[in-house]
Amino acid sequence: MPTSTTRPSPPEPHRPFTDPALATLGRILGHTPHATSAGLLNNAEIVVWQSSRRLVIALAIGTIGVLLHLFGIAKGPSWPFLAVVPVYIGVVALLTVSIERRHQVTRAALVVLALTDVAAIFATVALVTPPAFYLRALLLSLLALQFTQMFFGRSPALTVVVTSALAYIGLMIGAWELGMNVNWIEQGWLLALYLLVALNGMALQASANRRLAALVDLFAAAQRGDFSRTFVEERDREPDGITLLGRAYNHLRSELATMVLTDTLTGCLNRRGFEQVLNQTVSLSMRRGGELTLLAIDIDHFKAINDTVGHLAGDAILRELAELLSQSSRPGDVVARVGGEEFVVLLPGADSEDAGVVAERVMANVRGHTFRTARGRQQVSVSLGIASEQIIDAHMTGALRARADEALYVAKRLGRNRAVMWAPGIRSNATPPWTGISTTL
Ligand code: GH3
Ligand code: MG
Ligand code: MG
Repeated sequence: MPTSTTRPSPPEPHRPFTDPALATLGRILGHTPHATSAGLLNNAEIVVWQSSRRLVIALAIGTIGVLLHLFGIAKGPSWPFLAVVPVYIGVVALLTVSIERRHQVTRAALVVLALTDVAAIFATVALVTPPAFYLRALLLSLLALQFTQMFFGRSPALTVVVTSALAYIGLMIGAWELGMNVNWIEQGWLLALYLLVALNGMALQASANRRLAALVDLFAAAQRGDFSRTFVEERDREPDGITLLGRAYNHLRSELATMVLTDTLTGCLNRRGFEQVLNQTVSLSMRRGGELTLLAIDIDHFKAINDTVGHLAGDAILRELAELLSQSSRPGDVVARVGGEEFVVLLPGADSEDAGVVAERVMANVRGHTFRTARGRQQVSVSLGIASEQIIDAHMTGALRARADEALYVAKRLGRNRAVMWAPGIRSNATPPWTGISTTL
């Protein structure tokens, strides 16, 4: 059936990224609202990936600590390593296995993981470091914070900062009770500095995550062929890599849009571009009210024309027809090539009467036109299906396209080289021969 290729495709379901690099980025962004909306809520894999590193680091610290004691380089007991490291490894392994089984990680699990890091750091420092060097615990906590904030977001990171500050105060009180001379003003300063560095790091990382997530959203939209949004440079004053990437996207955007949404042969919109414009036009029509008309146009016996004059000459005919359709339509109408020799013209705001006028003009222009090809002059005829709808909901897009296709099918069945307006039961009433525009509406 000639109209089968113009049949509307179902709306594309929401898909997560298929590109592995983008998918990884999405996973890193984890639970940010943008990445979630892009269908990427899963940082379970990151926990599993990180856990192997945690275990390696814990084993390395434990082994180095024990060796230093064995060779008499470090003072103090070595048993804390033998106690803390296996407990830490056990807790991390348990958490990881349960997360891996469920393929999903809860915020609570991430907070427990952060608490495990802090507990391991402070327990090791308290047991093997003299009180004068307790500051090491805060430095190590900054390292844990960096990893937590980068991959897991705000609440686990805040857990690291708050529990580290409290644990440090606890350590100092313990040292003071053991008789150490603690300068509380100095310690207060140190703690304030720690909080400043930690919270500043958190803010920077959160901003980077937010901006990266906005970029992920932009790329996700671009993957669906939606180039309507830009990376907002005014809001991103940091002259860093993310801003540069955003600018690069903005520069590429219009070229990408042209590449993805237009037909290279004729220069008019392709099927994807048309679907986008159709959806936008339907939304606009719903808001403003009014009718929307679609013309489905298919060249008659194009296969035979190709066979006679050759494929290149056929291409020239397609180009000329696209031009002719643009000339026949009004400003604001949209011409698209949606299949090999199938075109559509979208007429926003046109009722069936306006549609009839435009369709008549298209038919007259094609009939009166001689197509110039490298293989000589060629007459071409087209069949045309018309559907007009009062748009009241978004689902009418499908109905509009199906009806224009059905009317085109009837035009073909009635002998081609004619325009037919859709009406209920049109297909069963189609009995050839019949010419001219149907007034069955
Ligand atoms: P009908 O009147 O029933 O529409 O017959 P038809 O021959 O036009 O339809 P059919 O679907 O049998 O053939 C369509 C032809 O369009 C077949 C294909 O070679 C040709 N075609 C599709 N895309 C292109 C293209 O890009 N360039 C050229 N030159 N031909 C194309
Ligand atoms: Mg066809
Ligand atoms: Mg055809």
